[in-house]
Amino acid sequence: ADKDIATPTRTRQILEKYGFSFKKSLGQNFLIDTNILHNIVSAAELTKAKAAIEVGPGIGALTEQLCRKAGQVVSIEIDQRLLPILEETLAPYDNFRVVHGDVLKLDLHQLIRDQLSHYEKISVVANLPYYVTTPILMKLLEERLPLENIVVMIQKEVADRIAAKPGSKDYGSLSVAAQFYAETEVAMVVPASVFVPKPNVDSAVIKLAVREKPPVEVADQKLFFQVVRASFAQRRKTLINNLVGQLFAKEQKEQVVQLLKRVEIEPERRGETLSIEEFARLSNEIFAAKL
Ligand code: SAM
Repeated sequence: ADKDIATPTRTRQILEKYGFSFKKSLGQNFLIDTNILHNIVSAAELTKAKAAIEVGPGIGALTEQLCRKAGQVVSIEIDQRLLPILEETLAPYDNFRVVHGDVLKLDLHQLIRDQLSHYEKISVVANLPYYVTTPILMKLLEERLPLENIVVMIQKEVADRIAAKPGSKDYGSLSVAAQFYAETEVAMVVPASVFVPKPNVDSAVIKLAVREKPPVEVADQKLFFQVVRASFAQRRKTLINNLVGQLFAKEQKEQVVQLLKRVEIEPERRGETLSIEEFARLSNEIFAAKL
């Protein structure tokens, strides 16, 4: 009964039995390697006292491993055709529930209140559908869900951007946003051969340890992110030229130069060299100056 779902043979049997055909439009690439699954699950540091939310269980390859380690597992699946399959493959586990729906539309605070109120520590663990990786991650972080960590398989290119440090080519507004809410780390790089069908991009598992509070004091969070986005708007432009044009009028240029000098940031630097701390200092000064 404990035979893993995620072997090539068992996966093929399940898919054939149900005549299942993959929908590319739903990002369906199923995992068929139990070693990778064990590594994903161990990165989430689950125990029976913790719960896991999974996005997109597919036929249950990762779900099954989560059920063995966590106290309760709730998986959100958009594809109705998978529900009867999951009912069979996960029948041995009484700590599993599936919610049929689109993770981007569900009220996750309510889902946690309704289904996981007994758990203080909750992880999101998933092999995400790649066509919506960034919106899903930003929803999980921006809604300030009571999560301990998020461990997800995503495109390697997106994982590199999320974990990038200032000054590197991958550093951008996604890095700042993710690192504002979480400590980020690429846990491992994964070859395409562990999926059916094989995706045509490289993959990686990223771990986000959700922060209790942001690493910097920000007077106005909306303004902070506006400044970040403006600073990265055109990567070849200097900070001052991005700010003037994106956020300020040309006539304000001298005022913005003075403001940058007050917070000790060279106007001629490029946005991609600013740390989160510097973006906070800059946006707090703009807020105070009411520019
Ligand atoms: N967890 C399984 C595995 O690792 O083998 C399947 C992973 S597959 C990459 C992504 C899964 O997410 C698919 O089952 C797909 O149907 C589901 N999915 C796609 N878009 C979704 C959405 N917006 N909300 C919830 N599930 C979604």
